[in-house]
Amino acid sequence: MDLKTGREFDVPIGAVVKLCDSGQIQVVDDEGNEHWISPQNASHIKPMHPTSIHGVEDMIRLGDLNEAGILRNLLIRYREHLIYTYTGSILVAVNPYQLLPIYSPEQIRLYTNKKIGEMPPHIFAIADNCYFNMQRNNKDQCCIISGESGAGKTESTKLILQFLAAISGQHSWIEQQVLEANPILEAFGNAKTIRNDNSSRFGKYIDIHFNKRGAIEGAKIEQYLLEKSRVCRQAQDERNYHVFYCMLRGMTMEQKKKLGLGKATDYNYLAMGNCTTCDGRDDSKEYANIRSAMKVLMFTDTENWEISKLLAAILHMGNLQYEEHLVFYKVSSSVWWCLCQVDPQDVMNCLTSRTIITRGETVSTPLSMEQALDVRDAFVKGIYGRLFVWIVEKINAAIYRPPSQELKSIRRSIGLLDIFGFENFTVNSFEQLCINFANENLQQFFVRHVFKLEQEEYNLENINWQHIEFTDNQDALDMIAIKPMNIISLIDEESKFPKGTDATMLHKLNSQHKLNTNYIPPKNNYETQFGINHFAGIVYYETKGFLEKNRDTLHGDIIQLVHSSKNKFIKQIFQADVAMGAETRKRSPTLSSQFKRSLELLMRTLSVCQPFFVRCIKPNEYKKPMLFDRELCVRQLRYSGMMETIRIRRAGYPIRYTFVEFVDRYRVLMPGVKPAYKQGDLRGTCQRIAEAVLGKDGDWQIGKTKIFLKDHHDMLLEIERDKAI
Ligand code: ADP
Ligand code: MG
Repeated sequence: MDLKTGREFDVPIGAVVKLCDSGQIQVVDDEGNEHWISPQNASHIKPMHPTSIHGVEDMIRLGDLNEAGILRNLLIRYREHLIYTYTGSILVAVNPYQLLPIYSPEQIRLYTNKKIGEMPPHIFAIADNCYFNMQRNNKDQCCIISGESGAGKTESTKLILQFLAAISGQHSWIEQQVLEANPILEAFGNAKTIRNDNSSRFGKYIDIHFNKRGAIEGAKIEQYLLEKSRVCRQAQDERNYHVFYCMLRGMTMEQKKKLGLGKATDYNYLAMGNCTTCDGRDDSKEYANIRSAMKVLMFTDTENWEISKLLAAILHMGNLQYEEHLVFYKVSSSVWWCLCQVDPQDVMNCLTSRTIITRGETVSTPLSMEQALDVRDAFVKGIYGRLFVWIVEKINAAIYRPPSQELKSIRRSIGLLDIFGFENFTVNSFEQLCINFANENLQQFFVRHVFKLEQEEYNLENINWQHIEFTDNQDALDMIAIKPMNIISLIDEESKFPKGTDATMLHKLNSQHKLNTNYIPPKNNYETQFGINHFAGIVYYETKGFLEKNRDTLHGDIIQLVHSSKNKFIKQIFQADVAMGAETRKRSPTLSSQFKRSLELLMRTLSVCQPFFVRCIKPNEYKKPMLFDRELCVRQLRYSGMMETIRIRRAGYPIRYTFVEFVDRYRVLMPGVKPAYKQGDLRGTCQRIAEAVLGKDGDWQIGKTKIFLKDHHDMLLEIERDKAI
């Protein structure tokens, strides 16, 4: 289905003609199905361009530059386990859902120090190019890995990291630490969902730092928006975060006894999705891996035990039982008090009533059953969210070395962005709005980089260029977060407004944006959802719970409870909250404003890097190998702008050098050419070198200040240069 129009797709398929019989044509299509085509439908058959028949490694070379051609190219390559395909320097990766023998140390060696295009397309080639560019251009690089949940972003990130660690080549302690950060992050931040058995429920940006010899000397991890609600609630067939199941499987009996723990099915928070195991995952073995990774990252035994205590406390809290008449009734395990080291009576009060201060008087009002459960869940989410942040900080403390002033200029970095893909569920809430907002930002970054800046530069440099149209998502982004009275700011305003409710918020959104073509107002006064026309399709957001989620505050009673605890660890992770005081807490930044700010910082970081793009494609919804759902794939290709990308990459000049850079780098190719600073006519010298090496008729151009080349020119120049020096 087309998300935007609701219509079924109509994607042409490749086929081989088998038989022509009295006007009837028998064909076998790419999926192996036979069809008879009657003479009146014969006009639907179009001959295929020769490049399409066997497929191409770089879609720029595709003769059939249309959707069907692109799709077929990916399909026939996928069948031969060729999951990687280029679009110029952009890598398209189709998830194979099976382990292919293409990531061995031997493969790493083969891809090391090669030009793009010298070897078949590969994620290692992208990593190698990042590394090479970083050193050659002395410029920070970034790799933006995008795709839907389950498309292969996290695996791609790990492969790039693995490659970089291997080629930077020290087998040092710090390198190992950077690699071992991943299992910890995944234990606490990944879970089994219906889309992906190892779905990352947070976004991350890993910035890897290299010293001037090109060895890894540290890294820094930035995390975004962990899905906290998962700790308390999971959909059918989904799990809570891996770490809980690992802990219950991997701990010794004695440890479990101390924490009062049983098996996963004993806990509401773990058994809700009716799925406590995950095919292909060995939770007990994983537990050992997590423990050893934590050792590598300098988590002390005490810290580990404190973390386990908190995790156990969370599980016990999920089993607390309430009775209808607001009385706190039974605790599944008295161990709980010991774990959190708080006074049982205080907990009871905290979870069943609420203190409100009116006109200087403190009044305690009882909570309804529903409210009481909400308070409990909010507390649990508060604990887990802060624990996750603490863990990331702990990891950074081990791997991050702030550069000294003198090193700042020579240290270079490669950043890997693995962030949640676009989401559109049956019911979408505030979290999806944030996630899709992030994706709009990334798409705009892509559009700016690939289409806007590129064409602006061609114009500025006055080279021959035919403008290429593209879909710009700037308007949607403006409406969501940039222009005055944007959606995020209205939600924020309403969240701070004491009388604000989800309904008043929706009302404001409607009155502000109802005329915007990217906004879809509710059909009537009863509907509680609004829609946004995202670059990847329309998504409807259910506003119930929006403000609460955005405020993301814990009631003062809870903070007070934490403050009274004798458990130093829980106090530590809540440190900022306790220090803040009630009034400041009320004014503390909302979730969306924090998220918006961290996205702005991310975008700023990315904008000063040379970007590489990896587009991951999910070939089917069943996590199955060798199954290529054409409609699912074409939808992903469409909204990621792949068609337009291929067009611009094919027509454009992705490689450009200033005259000085070009002359100094390639003058070795023409004997007797002096260095740039000794040249009177730089432009002319560039021209002479380019003509000599690339030929007069080659499709390269000379602008006002720069020379513009195709990827293959760059490769040719580099190969010649390697020979010459
Ligand atoms: P995402 O991060 O985009 O949600 P993942 O990277 O977690 O997706 O990939 C989902 C699953 O797909 C992985 O757990 C793995 O089983 C499979 N997968 C992804 N990429 C590869 C690959 N290159 N080779 C083999 N399997 C892969
Ligand atoms: Mg992931």
